[in-house]
Amino acid sequence: MAKKYDLVIVGAGPSGLLAAKAAGLAGLSVVLLERKSDITRLDRMCGQTLVSVNDYYFDDLVYYNRQGKSIGFIKNGFSFAYDGPVQGCNAWHIYSPCGNRMPFGLPEETRKQGDSGMVGLAYDKEILFRCLLEEVQDAGVEVCSGIDVSGVESMKDRVKVSGSGKAFEGSYLIAADGTNSRIARVCGFNEGRTFYSYLLCRGSHMRKLDLPDPDILLSGITYRTPAPGFMFIFPRPYEGECSVAFLALDPRADLEKVERFFTHESPFFLPWFKNAESTRQLASAQYIYSPVKEPYKGRVLLAGDTGACQELENTGAMISGWKAGSAIAAAVREDRIGIASRGIADYVQWWKATYIEKCPHEAYLMNFALPYVLDTEEDLNYLFSLIKEPLPPCWNPYAAIGHIGQLMQGLIPTIQEERPAMLQKLAKMSQPMSQVLAEATRGCAPRMELK
Ligand SMILES: Cc1cc2nc3c(=O)[nH]c(=O)nc-3n(C[C@H](O)[C@H](O)[C@H](O)COP(=O)(O)OP(=O)(O)OC[C@H]3O[C@@H](n4cnc5c(N)ncnc54)[C@H](O)[C@@H]3O)c2cc1C
Repeated sequence: MAKKYDLVIVGAGPSGLLAAKAAGLAGLSVVLLERKSDITRLDRMCGQTLVSVNDYYFDDLVYYNRQGKSIGFIKNGFSFAYDGPVQGCNAWHIYSPCGNRMPFGLPEETRKQGDSGMVGLAYDKEILFRCLLEEVQDAGVEVCSGIDVSGVESMKDRVKVSGSGKAFEGSYLIAADGTNSRIARVCGFNEGRTFYSYLLCRGSHMRKLDLPDPDILLSGITYRTPAPGFMFIFPRPYEGECSVAFLALDPRADLEKVERFFTHESPFFLPWFKNAESTRQLASAQYIYSPVKEPYKGRVLLAGDTGACQELENTGAMISGWKAGSAIAAAVREDRIGIASRGIADYVQWWKATYIEKCPHEAYLMNFALPYVLDTEEDLNYLFSLIKEPLPPCWNPYAAIGHIGQLMQGLIPTIQEERPAMLQKLAKMSQPMSQVLAEATRGCAPRMELK
């Protein structure tokens, strides 16, 4: 016999935990199901930063309350305790293969503004999970770990979820099971979505790197593999430590080779890694689909990355989780007191207006598309060599693309004069992303089953 609840939530990542907290605090009977046996353990690569702490993101402003040791969202009016260490990220610099730089902010300037100058905030995600889990349990939520949900059955007035030999029934289900969501797939939410590629990643926590600035986010691009490879370096909130991720959009780019280029071969990047020690290795493999436009059907509501193109980022996942939990709390209350329903419709409307319309997924994908368009090292080195002024301080994949667009406008006359053929390549950026990334999509066939 399935146990019955107002709400079943699948996935105890940032979105599922915030959904559980919101619904639990509103007095619903909630069960949170998670595949991992230890919810506080991070089993997948993540930069462990809060993106965009210096600007609106998903229509909200995230903040870290240093005195009160909490993380909060001003407009949505929620916060949660975080008692772990933090490290400000004071700029984001992207490097071309030879080391030419596209700087979003200069740390020597942003540092002067203290916490208000940060573009992002690095934290320890395992501590964040522990803090959130405590609040979820305090809110009266039943937490079941080690449950790998495999079946969902939607009925007229309830939904039944099964996995790992157990069954749970709820008036509603929130699917917060991430970018490779099985629930989205079995419930038919993936129909009509465009499949672009994977995001494949391997990386480690590292010590003793010799970086130009230890408190900024760094990215690099290589063409030394059959498909472009990327590197991201995220500060960690522990002295001398950072997280280094090597990524590619398709399996043609052997990630070991990408890593070797940056850490052992490139005359520019190699010195950063001369004394590096890896302390913990992590990896991840995710689908990149176009977003789900209608995130509710059959009593199932999607939250966080489950319905997203790739990532809402931790910041967006938390906001959408909180809002999804609140939406179901409203729906349950509406049902009980017998008033017209609008809680879920409001969430769907928010999803469309705030994510689908204001954060176009094509803009997110452009962050990875540049080396597919400028398809030689030489092109990218040249383009970056033209950048003389810093771009606005930013750690927001959607806003960054707007800044790069403006930068390009200013560079076009020079490029026109010096490398007119490059303009034709750059013009490809205005094509649909399915065309820009067609090579990556082909590189992903036949499609792998990702968990
Ligand atoms: C390489 C990399 C670096 C990143 N760096 C950053 C960064 O610096 N800053 C940032 O903001 N974001 C970053 N992100 C994105 C961020 O990790 C995600 O956007 C965020 O974790 C999404 O939260 P979520 O709760 O929606 O999904 P997830 O965090 O994916 O959580 C989903 C949960 O559901 C569980 N689950 C899945 N399937 C099932 C099932 N069938 N049954 C039960 N449970 C299940 C999973 O175990 C997991 O705990 C990064 C992502 C990657 C891949």
